Amino acid sequence: MLTDYHVHLRPDDGPTSAAEAFTPANAERYRERATELGIAELGVAEHIYRFSAALDVWDHPFWRRYARDDLDAYCGFVREETDLRLGLEMDFIPGREDRIANQLDGRDWDFVVGSIHFLRELSLDTEDFSIWGTGESADRVWRRYFETLAESARSGLYDIIGHPDLVKVWGRAAPIPDGDLRRYYEPAVEAFAETGVAVELSTAGWRKPVGEQYPSVPYLEMLVDAGCPIALSSDAHVVDQLGFEYERALKLLEDLGVGEIAVFERRQRRLEPVG
Ligand SMILES: [Zn+2]
Ligand SMILES: [Zn+2]
Repeated sequence: MLTDYHVHLRPDDGPTSAAEAFTPANAERYRERATELGIAELGVAEHIYRFSAALDVWDHPFWRRYARDDLDAYCGFVREETDLRLGLEMDFIPGREDRIANQLDGRDWDFVVGSIHFLRELSLDTEDFSIWGTGESADRVWRRYFETLAESARSGLYDIIGHPDLVKVWGRAAPIPDGDLRRYYEPAVEAFAETGVAVELSTAGWRKPVGEQYPSVPYLEMLVDAGCPIALSSDAHVVDQLGFEYERALKLLEDLGVGEIAVFERRQRRLEPVG
């Protein structure tokens, strides 16, 4: 079994509207490519901030810039006009758990990916609103990132924790703490193990400045030792990124003795042999 769940039907920036992206023809292009790659379980997980409902959760100016599509129309499209698994990439915003739950409840997800792109008002992975260069030390940013990630798992809102060390996305272009980084991963791994949430192996990091999958190898080793289920995705934003670098990811899983990956249907998880 191969999965690609954390998938977007259009790029984050650029002119593609929901009307153009959420069409049976576009979904079919993704399905055909996935079939070529042997990926049987294909899902979509659009960013919450592309939907107007996002502003009921959080009123950040970055979100306000993009939040215009209808969340129910997206769910209806995926369910009724495609055979894709229905997911959502839902940011974790501390203190907004009830509002997040309001958006998730009553909608028919196969899985919900929890992501952290912002710490307070500042962004980890975009040049706008960037946390980098604000004078915050790498140590503080990293500590806060992994503590918030632990909180996101403990919220119980998510099926999959997405790109679980996104804080490193810029590689050497942003400050990185010194020494063995496992001290930062520890609180997150503890929370994941305690809650049983699945953790994403995302191949997207291989096409970002850091040039490394999420999570890093030492972090992934800690997750495997703690018994955390692993979910495999590419975070594709275009068809050509589906299954990105999966051979490399499968080799990594094999090297670490991971024989199963998480598969989701209507927010029920099972484990299937990977490959
Ligand atoms: Zn993301
Ligand atoms: Zn994503």
